[in-house]
Amino acid sequence: MKKRKPYRYSNKRRKPKYGNIILTLLVVFLIVLAAPRVSFMFKGYSMRASNNLVFADIETEFNNNINKLLSSKNYQGDKIETYLELSRYLDEHEIVLKSSDYTGFVNILLDEKDYNLDTVKLIIATHSEDGVEMLTSEEKNIFLEELAEIDYLKLEFYDEYIEYYNTFRKAANKIVLEVNMRVNYEPFDENILVQLEKVDGYDLIVNHFSKLPDGYEPAELTRLSGPRFVADIFLESGVAEAYEELRQAAALEDYHLGAMSGYRSYDSQKRIYDKTVQDYVDEGLSKDEAIKRTREYVAVPGHSEHQTGFSVDWYLPYDDYCQGGKCLSSTDAYSWMKKHMHEYGFILRYPASKVKYTNIGFEPWHIRYVGVKVATYLYENDLTLEEWYAMDNKLD
Ligand SMILES: [Zn+2]
Repeated sequence: MKKRKPYRYSNKRRKPKYGNIILTLLVVFLIVLAAPRVSFMFKGYSMRASNNLVFADIETEFNNNINKLLSSKNYQGDKIETYLELSRYLDEHEIVLKSSDYTGFVNILLDEKDYNLDTVKLIIATHSEDGVEMLTSEEKNIFLEELAEIDYLKLEFYDEYIEYYNTFRKAANKIVLEVNMRVNYEPFDENILVQLEKVDGYDLIVNHFSKLPDGYEPAELTRLSGPRFVADIFLESGVAEAYEELRQAAALEDYHLGAMSGYRSYDSQKRIYDKTVQDYVDEGLSKDEAIKRTREYVAVPGHSEHQTGFSVDWYLPYDDYCQGGKCLSSTDAYSWMKKHMHEYGFILRYPASKVKYTNIGFEPWHIRYVGVKVATYLYENDLTLEEWYAMDNKLD
């Protein structure tokens, strides 16, 4: 026979203890609710900031600026997203607010002056407290709003933008572009000269503000074949290959390119430079004048693209009308080159319209390898390497 389990009617034992459950749930609820707040407070936020951060649903690392912004006496609850975005921006640029009163300024700049948030970020990041206060009492500054829209703006150049603007009154994008290119400095100014540590990539910039590493030589050089001015002309091996493709493509159109000059060592660049200066001095120019004239077309040693092995000076050895020099620019070969050399990775490095930026006079013969992608971008957007770098050398 099966044993039957004795049936026990035990109402008492099974009765749920509603009181305890409710209490437990309440405690859990409170812990859950308080935990993030407490964890924010542990991170160093004020109680007020912690509360706001919880309700803003923000996961955040410790941030001094958030604390100051959210703890401010001028804090307005409905602007929390704005304050947080501002705080993230300040954090990103490692700017620490001096005072919590900034929320007051932010409110005025946004609401009364009707600046957009980007402009407010710029103002807070670039002005002293007095400066911000002054802007809250002045008429809206349209130039600031234009500046804030430029994504390659560099905060550290802000004072220079303003000074440059006050002198030249150009549009904000021109101001930023030119100051980023350091047009407001004399070429070779030692205070802003960049000495490169290494050469990596064909889109490297070598110019009056950017100097090659001392004693730099390309890792591998290739001797050019095809027409050339002297027997030994070398280019960096990858560039030599691209140049050969360009030369053959041009030949198919009946343009027979020759190479006038390619890789030049530091020493040979120095010889050319010194000799050119001396020639001018012999012609009766002062040393300073001679240097100035020389630099118009001859790069200062260490600042020459020819030392990279990425550049070649071309000419037309068989042309009846023009074999080399400035007259190249009125040949059909030049027109073809201008239109097609980017397809092989080359750019016209020193165009007539950009002398102010390159600091080298128009050189129709000097082409520079930067790779097909960059060359195409620069060609399509009519940019020099200087401008491209000033815009943070990004490809769209
Ligand atoms: Zn050249």
